[in-house]
Formats: sequence, C-alpha cells, structure tokens
Amino acid sequence: VWTNCLKIIKDIVEWQHYKTWFEPITPVSIKNNVLVIQVPSQFFFEYLEEHYVNLLAKTLKRELGKEARLEYRIMVDSGNSKNKPLTMDVTGQGYKTFSNNEMDFPLVINNPVKNPFVIPGLKKMQIDPQLNHIYTFDAFIEGDCNRVARRAGKTVAEKPGANSFNPLVIYGGVGLGKTHLAQAIGNEVKRLNPNKVVLYVSSEKFINQFMDHSRNNAINDFIHFYQLIDVLIIDDVQFFAKAEKSQDAFFAIFNHLHQSHKQLILTSDKSPKDLDGVQERLLSRFRWGLSADLQIPDYETRIEILEKKMKNDGLEMPKEVVKYIAYNINSNVRELEGALISLLAQSSLNRREIDLDLAKKVLRNFIKSSSKEITIDTIQRMVCEYFDVSYDKLLQKTRKREIVQARQITMYLAKAFTKNSLKTIGEHFGGRDHTTVIHSCQTVKDLMDTDTVFRENVLELQQKVQLAAM
Ligand code: ADP
Ligand code: MG
Repeated sequence: VWTNCLKIIKDIVEWQHYKTWFEPITPVSIKNNVLVIQVPSQFFFEYLEEHYVNLLAKTLKRELGKEARLEYRIMVDSGNSKNKPLTMDVTGQGYKTFSNNEMDFPLVINNPVKNPFVIPGLKKMQIDPQLNHIYTFDAFIEGDCNRVARRAGKTVAEKPGANSFNPLVIYGGVGLGKTHLAQAIGNEVKRLNPNKVVLYVSSEKFINQFMDHSRNNAINDFIHFYQLIDVLIIDDVQFFAKAEKSQDAFFAIFNHLHQSHKQLILTSDKSPKDLDGVQERLLSRFRWGLSADLQIPDYETRIEILEKKMKNDGLEMPKEVVKYIAYNINSNVRELEGALISLLAQSSLNRREIDLDLAKKVLRNFIKSSSKEITIDTIQRMVCEYFDVSYDKLLQKTRKREIVQARQITMYLAKAFTKNSLKTIGEHFGGRDHTTVIHSCQTVKDLMDTDTVFRENVLELQQKVQLAAM
C-alpha cells in the first residue's frame, strides 16, 4: 500500500522534497484501514502534517478507501509525546497548527491549506526570509569601493543558483555594507520571484540553532530544513571559527545546496584566505564562486550616500554641511550615518537649523574619536617599509618596475586616505603633476582587477593605513 502511495506522491512532489520528507519514512504495519508509518522525529511528523496532510489523505484514501487512517511512530523522540503513536485525521481537517518556537527555527508556516482540493505537495515550503525590507539595491549606492560586489550581487539576485558566483562571498571591514548588500540580494530575489525560498541568518544564529537541535538529537532535521532553501544567506561567517560541529553541518548543507544549483551568499569580515579557524574544505568551497570585497567609499560616494539617506528620510540640509560630514568622516558608512543622526538629533533638540557651525560643533567629538589625520608622508613611509624600498628612491625618477608600482600605490593610497588635492599629492612626489597622480590611481585600479598578488598587496597596505588612521 505504502509503495503505491509513494508512487503517486513521487509524481506530484518536487523531487527534492520527496527525497527529504518521504524517502525516510518506513511503513510499519497495516490493519484494516489504518496504516502505521515510522518517521525520524517529532519535527518530521509536524512538518508532514502541516504540509502534506491533504496529499497523504488523498493518496491513502485511494488505496484504503474512505475510512483510511494514518498513524505515526516517531523514531527519535524529541518531543513530549513519548511512546504514544500520533494519529492524524486524514480527512484533512483536524491537523494542528505548527509551532516550533522552542527551537527558534525561522520556520513560520503561514499557509495552512484550507482548500482540500489544493495539493499541498505542490506548494513550496513557506518561511519568513528574515529580511529587513529597507536593505535594497536602490538604497545601496554604487562606487569604486563596492562596484564588483554590488554588480555580482545583482546578477545573483536575478539568476540565483544559475550563475558562476556560487557562492558569492562578500567581505570587508565593519560598517561597509556587507549585511545591507547581502539582504538586498534576498529582497530582490523575493521581489522578482516570490516563490523562491529565501533565508537570511547570521552565523551566530545558525550555530545556536544547530546546538539546540544537537541537544535534541535532531541534527538531521536541522540539515534537512536548510537543504530545502533556494537562496541561503549567511552573515558574518567568521564566527564559524572553531565551531567545528556547526561547520560540519554547514558543510553538508553547502554541498547539497550547491549540487542542487541553489544559491549561497556569505559575508565575512575577512577575505576567505584569512579566515582562521574555518575548515579548509569549507574555505576551498568558498573559492568556487566569487569573493568580492567592500572598501571604504571615497569622498564623492560618501556624499551620494548621505544624500540618499536624507532623501529617503525626507530631510534636507545645506550642501556645505553634507560636504563637511563626507569630508571628515572617512572610516565607514555606519559612522557616516551615525554622524548624520547625531546632527539631526542635536538640531531638533536645540530647535536649531542645521548649518555648518552646528555641524562643526557636533562632529568635533566624532572626528577626533573616529579618525586621526593621516599624512602623505606617513603613507609614503608605510609603503617603503612594506616593499622594502628606500624613501629617496620612491621620490626619484627611477623607472624600475617595483619602484614605479610602489610609487603608484602610494599615490593611490594618498588619494584615498588623505584630503589632499591631486596637485598636492603630486608635489609630494618630487614635483610630479596631477595627471601623473590620476594615471597612477587608474593603473592601480586596473592592476587590482587583473593581478591578484598586486591586489593582495594593495589591500594589505590599505588595512595598515586604515589601522594607523584609527
Ligand atoms: P556591515 O554588515 O559590513 O558591518 P552594514 O551592512 O550593517 O555593514 O552597513 C552599515 C550601514 O551603512 C547600514 O545602515 C547600511 O545601510 C549603510 N551602507 C553601507 N554601504 C552603503 C552604500 N553603499 N550605500 C548606502 N548605504 C550603505
Ligand atoms: Mg553586518
């Protein structure tokens, strides 16, 4: 009887779901019109009951007639209903509401099938994707600092799973937009394709869920659940470091999703190659797709970001104030927003119009605490030390390749981290003119796209300068 039922179910349910939810079932006994089946866990039972009750009812009635009944035995009992077989009313009316709060699964089943003629097996699992709707692509300003990551993110959102950026790893320092961009992808997938099962989860939450399930002997449920997702976003994977068992579970999930052409999006505060404490087999998979970094936005982009935030909140302030903030807050976007919010707060508290004076007063503390002034000279000395090049050579007209590159990188960093004009920067390099500086910056950007060793060098130097600026 059960084999016959399965045959029907197999044709109706998506293969993946069939494999996950029906294959693990074993028939136990059949007496008159009662079929007893064994399922691996309480969670399994509840899931079946919630999602497949009508399907099971229909197929079973075909086999056993109108009075058919289905009973469950639970193999690993993690719930409170010990030993008692659970009975489901296969008329399809009497199933209970599913709730799984104890385990803090983001599984919110909000689609109990009312119409018995709708076969629930055809419906996808419904979960709350845990996304914040304010994080959109539209609100995420593009600049040199994030172009690759943002565009890759768009591609992923338009063709989840069917692109060469799987997984997409977004990495960068704090407050540079990793969470925003990752969630924007999720929101965009949902907008374009509401039926896709999207889930955003931080790695800490993933680990906590894993541990809960581990305590309840329900690791398989945990893995099964994650394997049903179409677009899985895991934020801050650096927190997986040292969580070996969670990494094992994630490894299984990753492999399954990747093989089924489901999309993975990961964020990290470090490049995958620097993720200490994460298993090499995972890191090597992270490299299958694309790793794209987020950098500190340059001055123009910072202005755009501020203007966008103001527009979204219906705020206005003099352009010179916007410029003043963008000019002075160059650590990260979160600080930039923080500065804007402080200013607005002060203005409304003191019932005072926002002007440059107020901005200077409010931002004084911000600027002091958030960033030190970095000079061209400091950067020059850092680069010299890094490449083991003499300071004199850096400034002279030597055309040796290493020195030319070191010089170009220095100019690039000076442009990114100081407020000096191109002209001033040129003057600090033995009186070169501003076109040389422009050319150097462009060369560095181009080389970063094509030469990985070069890129790593620049990124490492950039980090050193950033640290020195804190
Ligand atoms: P991270 O996860 O990297 O620490 P977040 O994604 O939380 O950073 O970003 C910090 C704040 O900066 C958020 O409010 C986000 O909306 C904003 N932000 C970051 N990058 C951009 C951008 N390119 N355009 C607009 N807002 C941004
Ligand atoms: Mg974040």
